[in-house]
Amino acid sequence: MTWKKFAEQPRVAELLAASLRNDRLAHAYLFAGPRGSGKMRMALHLAKSLFCTENKGDACGACLQCRRIDAGNHSDVHIITPDGASIKIDQIRALQKEMAMRSVESFYKVYIIEHIDKMTVQAANSLLKFLEEPPSGVIAILLTENSHALLSTILSRCQLVSFSPLPPDWIADKLRAEGIAEGMAKAASQITTYLDEARALSQSEWFAQLRNIMIQLIQDIKMPNSTVLFTIQDFWQKNDRLKEELPLFLDLLILWLRDILYVQVGRLAYLINSDQQDVLQGQALAWTKAELLHAMEVVMDTKNRIERNASPQLALERLVLQIQEG
Ligand SMILES: [Zn+2]
Repeated sequence: MTWKKFAEQPRVAELLAASLRNDRLAHAYLFAGPRGSGKMRMALHLAKSLFCTENKGDACGACLQCRRIDAGNHSDVHIITPDGASIKIDQIRALQKEMAMRSVESFYKVYIIEHIDKMTVQAANSLLKFLEEPPSGVIAILLTENSHALLSTILSRCQLVSFSPLPPDWIADKLRAEGIAEGMAKAASQITTYLDEARALSQSEWFAQLRNIMIQLIQDIKMPNSTVLFTIQDFWQKNDRLKEELPLFLDLLILWLRDILYVQVGRLAYLINSDQQDVLQGQALAWTKAELLHAMEVVMDTKNRIERNASPQLALERLVLQIQEG
């Protein structure tokens, strides 16, 4: 792994690599971005780049220093995560003690704090003093998914580095390269920006099954004398998980409706369910554009209802009837 290979966050990687090259590292960084955007991986890479014996200004990932950092037992790299629900003052005190000790092996000491927004007030105040007068050679990397929840005094003492959510195309390509079928890879990449989660989804039998149920439902909805309500009842009986997974089901449904629209306007390159092109093409003839837009609205509305604790079963039946009424 090198700076150049951070394909998911190239801008951040380039920024940090340049700071190292020009010897202009900040004392404290705040890595802010959504879950799964690679903040910890980047923080560890920055740490490795300071200690790696093989790759100056970068990390080889294979030397003893790199491996010790990856394994979490490097004496000059400390990682703090919330102890239970919060980061407590004792953790910050212990960290300061550790950082005050001169390193025997190198000039640098690095500490990484995950979920920095979860500090107690006392812990935050204690850290703040530490950020104001950093011992030389000490580099702080603070991670958060929620920089808005941070004290402005902490924000103002760090260099803010923003991480973007992973682009769906990037996730889909990655999954495809791992051998996951195109349709599944694309659908999962639209549902979560978290690579591990997308991988787990696209590999699970349940996800494939949920997608099949969705395709069946949307097919039945447009049938004359539709028996779709019976079909739903059948689904409920056979699939216990459908109730809890209904939000996921609705996400898949939205993607599908959008795909029908794409087929209608000839934008086949945009299809998420590209492995189902034949089915989509058939359905494109059965829906008008207005009906599709209405259906998408109904699905969004159903999502909101479920978030507000509506009964999943009733919400889905209502959705079917509203879509059929057009
Ligand atoms: Zn190395």
